[in-house]
Amino acid sequence: MKIPFHNTETAFQYKSTWELTQAYLLFKGVGSPALVHWGARFLNAFIHTPIPFDPLLRATLFKQFCGGETAHACSLTVRKLAEYGVGTVLDYSIEGAQDETVFDATEKELLSNLTLASQSKSIPFTVFKMTGLVRFTLLEKLHQKTALTEAETKEWHRAQERVRRIIEKAAELKVRVLVDAEETWIQDPIDTLVEGFMKTFNQTQPTVYHTLQMYRSDRLDYLKKLLQKAQRDSFICAVKLVRGAYMEKERKRAESKGMPSPILPNKQATDASYDAALKLLIDSTENAAIFAGTHNEQSSQFLVDLMLEKGIDPKDLRFYFSQLLGMSDHLTFNLAQCGFNTAKYVPYGPVRELTPYLIRRAQENSAISGQSLRELELIEKGT
Ligand SMILES: Cc1cc2nc3c(=O)[nH]c(=O)nc-3n(C[C@H](O)[C@H](O)[C@H](O)COP(=O)(O)OP(=O)(O)OC[C@H]3O[C@@H](n4cnc5c(N)ncnc54)[C@H](O)[C@@H]3O)c2cc1C
Repeated sequence: MKIPFHNTETAFQYKSTWELTQAYLLFKGVGSPALVHWGARFLNAFIHTPIPFDPLLRATLFKQFCGGETAHACSLTVRKLAEYGVGTVLDYSIEGAQDETVFDATEKELLSNLTLASQSKSIPFTVFKMTGLVRFTLLEKLHQKTALTEAETKEWHRAQERVRRIIEKAAELKVRVLVDAEETWIQDPIDTLVEGFMKTFNQTQPTVYHTLQMYRSDRLDYLKKLLQKAQRDSFICAVKLVRGAYMEKERKRAESKGMPSPILPNKQATDASYDAALKLLIDSTENAAIFAGTHNEQSSQFLVDLMLEKGIDPKDLRFYFSQLLGMSDHLTFNLAQCGFNTAKYVPYGPVRELTPYLIRRAQENSAISGQSLRELELIEKGT
C-alpha cells in the first residue's frame, strides 16, 4: 500500500484557511537562515531578562508548534486531532532547570498528565526528558562514572524515585510513557535507568519506551543487544526511534575535545541506520513495540511496507507513527486516514520555558535543512 502523502486535502483538513496562511507566513520567515540565526541569538541572550518578547513568540512559533500554556489549554488541540483519528502525546517541555523544587513540580505535572491521559482515549502517551527531573551536570558526572559526593548520591536517588513514581502510575493507569533521548554525554545513565524500568514494567505490555537516536554510530549495536536482553529477560523492548536532534552540538563538542564524533558521517548513513533499526524491530515483533518519531516520508513508507509484509494489522497498538505538532501533517493525517496509529507530540508550558524548544523548531525548519521548503510547498498546494 502506497500512502498518498501528497494528499494535501487530508493533510490540512483540520486547519482553517486563515491558520494555513499564518503557517505559510511562518515557514517563509523561518526559511531565512539569517532571520533564524539572529532570532535565536537574540532569544538566547534575553531569555532570562524581563524583555517582553513573549507576545511575539506566542503569536508565531508558539501558536504553530505548541498546544497551549497548560495541559488543559491543549484540550482543543487534542479534540481537533482526535476528530481525524490522530492521538496526542502530551509533552510538558520544560528544559534546563537546575532546581529541585522545579523537578518536583515537573514530576507533579507529569503525574497529573497521566491522570488526564487515562481519562481520554485520545492521549495514548505522555513523555518526559530526564533533564526535566534531574540536573544535567549530575547526569554528566554519572555518565563519566565520576565518584559522586554523598549529597549527589542522595540527589540521584531522589531523581530515580521521581521516575519510578511516574512509571508506576503510568503502568497502573495503562498509559504509555516515552523517555526522550538527549545529548550523548549524559545518555549512559538514562539508558541504564530506562532499561531497568522496561524490564520491570514491560512484562506484558509496553509501558516504558526508550528512545534511540539513529544518527549515533553506536545505536544499531546497542539496539541488537537490547533486543537480546528483552528476549532473555522476557520483556517488551519498546523503542521510540528518531534520527536525533543535537547533531551540530554533538559535532562541535567532539571537535573541541579532539574526540571522534559520535554521529554517523553523513545523512545517508543516518537514513540507513534508521531503516535498519526499523527492520530489526519488526523482525522481533513478538517482543518489541515501535514508535516511529520521524518526519521522513521514505522511512514512514518503509515501516508501512514492513508491517504489511509481516501481516501486521495497521491498528496493532504496538506500532505508532508520530510527528511534532505543526510539522509534517501530510504524514500524520494521511497515515491516519489509511488506518495506521498516529500521534502528534503536543508540547505545552509557559512561553518563556518553551523558548529553547521553539528555537530548535525554527532552526530545524530553516532553509539549510530544506524542511521549511517542504512545508511551504505542501501548504501552497493545500491553499
Ligand atoms: C515525535 C518525535 C519525537 C522526537 N523525539 C526526539 C528525542 O527524544 N530526542 C532527539 O534527539 N530527537 C527527537 N526528535 C527529533 C528527531 O531526532 C529529528 O531531529 C527530527 O525528527 C528530524 O529527523 P527526521 O527523521 O524527521 O527526518 P529527516 O529530515 O529525514 O532527517 C533529518 C535528520 O537527519 C540527521 N542528519 C541530517 N544531516 C546529517 C548528516 N550530515 N550526518 C548525519 N546525520 C544527519 C539528523 O538527525 C537530522 O535531524 C523527535 C522527533 C519526532 C518527530
